[in-house]
Amino acid sequence: MSLENNIKQTLLTRSDQQCELCRATENLSVFAVEPSNGTAEQAVLICQTCKSQIETPSTMDPNHWRCLNDSMWHPELAVQVLSYRLLHALRSEGWPQDLLELMYLEDEAKAWAESGLEDLTEEESNAPTKDSNGATLQEGDSVTLIKDLVVKGANFTAKRGTLVKNIHLTDNPLHIEGKVNGTQIVLVAAFLKKA
Ligand SMILES: [Zn+2]
Repeated sequence: MSLENNIKQTLLTRSDQQCELCRATENLSVFAVEPSNGTAEQAVLICQTCKSQIETPSTMDPNHWRCLNDSMWHPELAVQVLSYRLLHALRSEGWPQDLLELMYLEDEAKAWAESGLEDLTEEESNAPTKDSNGATLQEGDSVTLIKDLVVKGANFTAKRGTLVKNIHLTDNPLHIEGKVNGTQIVLVAAFLKKA
């Protein structure tokens, strides 16, 4: 069985064979919540309706997304993170903004959720880059990974504890760039610890 099928099986069991956002039971597929390490823990099982609206935000039907009212309380972090991003995308409707204010995400989940949001405000993009402990990271710092990361496209896993020297800051305070196994990759600052 391929890795992808394995993940789908895991998610079908976890979700009781339902879309983890709207509970539809047909045309279910695996959706990676980026930046993802490629595991089931960082993926959500979603139906075709949810998927197509996520992939083409201009087609989003706010009424369909009333389901976020439930999914935002889902025990799986990946479902919470995806719900948070969708509520954020819909916030001009009013009610999603109210739900966002009710939502509580642990710091790490919040950083994950926010790293997928586009259009950072100027204030956000001028914010300091902080590691998992809230320490400010500077250009040229060394950091260690606090979790295993599957590096897509490069076909290796950067192990927890890996030292990354001489990091570069990016325009987005949630991301840095660094070299792992000789490959320059983008890393989520919240998954790092200043060395
Ligand atoms: Zn759905």
